[in-house]
Amino acid sequence: MPNDHDADAAAEGKARPATRLTQVGRPGSRVYGYVNAPLVRGSTVVHPDMAHQRSLYTRRHDQAMIYGVLGTPTHFALEDAIAEIEGGTRCQIVSSGLSAITTPLLAYLKAGQTVLIPDNVYGPTRRFCDGMLAGLGVVTTYYPPMIDAAGLEALMRPETAVLFLESPGSHTFEVQDVPALAAVAHAHGASVLMDNTWGIQFFQPFAHGVDVSIQAVTKYIGGHSDIILGAVTVAADKDWVKIKDAAMSLGQYASPDDCWLALRGVRSLGIRLRHQMESALDVARWLEGRPEVLRVLHPALPGSPGHEFWKRDFTGASSLFGVVLKPDYAPLAVDAMIDAMTLFGIGASWGGYESLVLPSTGSINRTAGSGQFGGEIIRLHIGMEDVVDIKADLERGFAALRGME
Ligand SMILES: *Cc1c(COP(=O)(O)O)cnc(C)c1O
Repeated sequence: MPNDHDADAAAEGKARPATRLTQVGRPGSRVYGYVNAPLVRGSTVVHPDMAHQRSLYTRRHDQAMIYGVLGTPTHFALEDAIAEIEGGTRCQIVSSGLSAITTPLLAYLKAGQTVLIPDNVYGPTRRFCDGMLAGLGVVTTYYPPMIDAAGLEALMRPETAVLFLESPGSHTFEVQDVPALAAVAHAHGASVLMDNTWGIQFFQPFAHGVDVSIQAVTKYIGGHSDIILGAVTVAADKDWVKIKDAAMSLGQYASPDDCWLALRGVRSLGIRLRHQMESALDVARWLEGRPEVLRVLHPALPGSPGHEFWKRDFTGASSLFGVVLKPDYAPLAVDAMIDAMTLFGIGASWGGYESLVLPSTGSINRTAGSGQFGGEIIRLHIGMEDVVDIKADLERGFAALRGME
């Protein structure tokens, strides 16, 4: 891997990342020494007296037990864990990955302002911008994801309040030059929000100029395809006040049961990611040699868009990537390929233990001119199955694909 993040941590006298994943978000002696954070369900918190009640209400931005919607010890434990994984200071758990996008956009934007959104953004983010944000008087400008600092400079206006990043982007996996783009935004007084779901513990957003980092906890942190949860993390107090106020105003809340399951996911996150990264790289390299494949869109492979930025800024890769098929194959042939595969599930989302496949056609909606790839694209999520079986399943799919030529 390009960067030895583990060695950096050791040099700073911190435990290495794998060790930290076993320590974060644990209450220790506060729950009689039990290893794990307790699962606390609750709305009402009763106070011993009025002085106690009043003292807590002045601490709404802290992890204070005031009322369930502001968080329970289970939420706070997960928030501490995710702040640590992202390299930030404070985290707000919200109801879904999509809420982790819409909550900060609402916190940072008001009528008359503009947000810059990459053309390859997660589809529901685009829907929110074109629908609700537009209705509130916020203008969205889409930009090609591989824009450079000079290109971005030309788009900045006095009313540009937010630069949104998603790196790598959905379906086509372009890696952005985050530090250069963040510097331009900051020079113009704009805030930098980033969807860091793919990069997760392999990309440290705050060390690269990001102000607000977004995680769909649903994906790798959950890790088992059985929860929906989001997290918004910051590294500065001024950002924390905005995020916490927005979450309170919107009544953002997530089930403590889901938070508790996400904490369980945190403990095995490092090992799962490493294993799935290696399997995915093995499969991606094998796919590059297949006659049916035009190119593989995997940030860790040379030739994938923004590979040089991945190499410079990331310490690893997750296990979701795109495969561009040769132009000989039409959408119907791709459907036949996917139907012939028995191990890969046909399903949305990713980050679980199981392999998934989806055609990207229909999910790719571009308005800023990016996204010409030369053939049908499928998206693969590589799970924990043996790679021999994964490749055999893809072979089955390719036979069906060729049969439809
Ligand atoms: C899945 C996903 C989300 C949304 O997460 P949900 O929990 O499903 O709402 C956000 N961003 C990216 C990049 C995603 O892939």
